[in-house]
Order: sequence, then structure tokens, then C-alpha cells
Amino acid sequence: MSNFLHSETIAASAGVAEDSAYGDVSPPLHLSANYAWNDPLDKPQYDYARSGNPTRTQLEEALCKLEGAAKGIVVSSGMAALDLVLNLVNTGETVLAPHDCYGGTHRLLTARAKRGQFNVEFVDQTDPAKLAAAFIKNPKLALVETPSNPLLRITDIRDCVAQARHCDTIVVADNTFLSPALQNPLELGCDIVVHSTTKFINGHSDVVGGAVLAKDQALGDELAWWANCTGVTGAPFDSFLTLRGLRTLHTRIERQQASAEVVAAKLAEDERVSNVFYPGLESHPGHEIAKAQQQGFGSMFSVEFAEGVDVIELLRGLDLFTIAESLGGFESLVCVPAAMTHASMAPEARAAAGISERLVRFSIGLEHQEDLLSDIFAALEKASVPGGKIAYLHQEARGACA
Ligand SMILES: *Cc1c(COP(=O)(O)O)cnc(C)c1O
Repeated sequence: MSNFLHSETIAASAGVAEDSAYGDVSPPLHLSANYAWNDPLDKPQYDYARSGNPTRTQLEEALCKLEGAAKGIVVSSGMAALDLVLNLVNTGETVLAPHDCYGGTHRLLTARAKRGQFNVEFVDQTDPAKLAAAFIKNPKLALVETPSNPLLRITDIRDCVAQARHCDTIVVADNTFLSPALQNPLELGCDIVVHSTTKFINGHSDVVGGAVLAKDQALGDELAWWANCTGVTGAPFDSFLTLRGLRTLHTRIERQQASAEVVAAKLAEDERVSNVFYPGLESHPGHEIAKAQQQGFGSMFSVEFAEGVDVIELLRGLDLFTIAESLGGFESLVCVPAAMTHASMAPEARAAAGISERLVRFSIGLEHQEDLLSDIFAALEKASVPGGKIAYLHQEARGACA
């Protein structure tokens, strides 16, 4: 057998039939919080489950192989993963982040910077001149998130890495939107990949989890030390479920992507739509870069509807799409970022980031694409006021972003 295994094979075979006690085909779930020592002077492989446990190790090893990492740490959420990498930054040093990063990431960076733990610089990373100007300040860590949320902007990872090399910046990619099935940032030169495994990797909307994957062993060991020290490591049951979800990652994403391509293209042709933000469309400004660095365009897109469409009514009229935050699960989801995921952003900041009140984000699931299309077009018909102009008042920030 060749040493090279395709990602699908890695996901399907990780930990299968490796149990030494009973020969379990499906890896067993080890829930124990602590492990017995044979002798006080003979530390076992696992001693305490915060530091490590076999179920979590199985998921970590599978994710490492999928991303080409030397060391992986499974943590309790995507936010825990992002916070973990921030332990690499000292007071006075700078974190460079995309201006339109995930809302929770924006909140975390802003809150920690306010405490004086580091400086943060939010930049439009799709603008090469702005990116170059930001790198002049020698950031310690640069976070890349591509495609971005909710506008699916594409950042050129190779270009970002090339600029970072001049100033020894650690480049971290949040690969949540595509998963290792469609993008491998470590292969493109990044040092660390973070995931909210809550999304595509688990894919069943029943676990909140995260992972940090480091290309370099020493950097990974440093992060593992911090994960144990701060106690953000993932629970065994969550790891068990996430590994179970990972088995079908490639199959799910292929199917979801195929439907997303069709639905996005159909919407782009409709006169009641002003813009479709999907990197798979040739009209998308990041289309060529996406083609060069991704293995597919994914199953997420956003749509800006024309002024005669009441997007709130549109959501109310959908049957197959659940109105919910989050993404990447087997089920189709829909949200109005301005009223939901990005409600905690000031309206001016939202406008500056290009998130209009008429923007709707879709996460395409495993339902049949014809059913999804019928659902969307029926709801669109009902929500359209020909020649009308809908005014929106969903400005009040109802709580923070998820
Ligand atoms: C959801 C998400 C996160 C946060 O992950 P949680 O698991 O919800 O903590 C971070 N980055 C991106 C891009 C996300 O979509």
C-alpha cells in the first residue's frame, strides 16, 4: 500500500479496529477523568483527562493528518481554539486580523486588546496595499479567515504568508468555512490552522468544539502546554461525536457544495436579487484566488436582495431552511446577519464591512436541491413587493453575536 492516503480514506479509517482490549471496530469512548498508575514512579501514558485522553487523541491525530500538522489540540470550542493561539502573543506585540472576521473573534481580540494584553490591528486583508502597510508594523501573529463571513471575501493565503515571512509573523488560518476537505492552509504556508469543529467537521449540529493544528512540533507542544494549563481541552464525548461526524465530512461537503452551486447560480439570475456572494461564481471578485487555493467553493453563500424584497418575510416564509446562527451542518440554515449573527456590531461598522440590512446568509444542507430551490422561490414570491422599498428597523443589538 502506498504511504499517501487520500483525505477521504484518513477520515473513514482513523482509529478503526485499533482497540487492543476487545477489537472494537468503531473506536471506544473513554470517559474516565483519571487513569491508574501501576507504580508511583511509573507515569502512565494518560494520567488525567484534561491533559490527555485516548478518545481526544484519536480525533487530534485524524485532524493532524487531514491538515498536514505535526501536532493537534482539540479544545472545547472554536473560540477556545482562537484564544489558545493568542497565548503566543506578548504584551506590546500586535495581532493582525481581518476587519470582517467572525464576530466572536472580533469581540475576543477587542476585549483582550482593551485589557492591554496586546495590540490589535483590523485590516481589509483582501486589499494588498493595506495588508502590506499592516505588515510593516511587524505583527507577532496574523490571523487569516478565508472565505470570510458573511460576504465570502477571499484572502490570498500565499500572498499573506509571503509578506509574513519578512517579519517572522506567525500566520494562523481560521479554516472553519471550508474544512480540510476543501482548503489546507498549512500546505499554503500557514503555521497554524484553527477550526470551529462545531461547523463542517462535526457537521451534525450536536457538538460545540474546536481544534488547533500546528505545522511545527515545537509550536504545537507550546500550544498543548497552554491548553492543559488553561484547561480549554475538549471533552471525550465531544471528541467521540466529532470523530464520528468527520467520517462523512467529504461526502457531505461534496453534496452540499453541488447544491449550493446550483442554488447560488439560480438566485444570481433573478431580478429580485442585487448580488450573490459565492466564490464559485465567476462574477465574485475572489473567484480566481479561490480557484488557486481551494479544492472547491463550499456550501455557504450570501445574497443581497433587491429593495422590493422583505427579507424578514422571506425568512418567515421558508419551510426547509431553519432560521438559526451557525453553519456547516447537515441541515440547511438561513440567517439575516444584520439582525442575528452581526447584530452586536454598530450599524456604521456593519455598513463599513458591507453587511447590508438586505443581506441573507445561506448554509446549504443535505436536502435535495430541487426542494431547496422550490422553497426559496416560493418564499421569495411571497416576500416580494414589486417596485416596493422595504425599510428595516432591526438595528437594536439583541445580545452579542454567537
Ligand atoms: C463559529 C465560528 C467560530 C467560533 O466557533 P465556536 O465553536 O462557536 O466557538 C470561529 N470562527 C468561525 C469562522 C466560525 O464560523
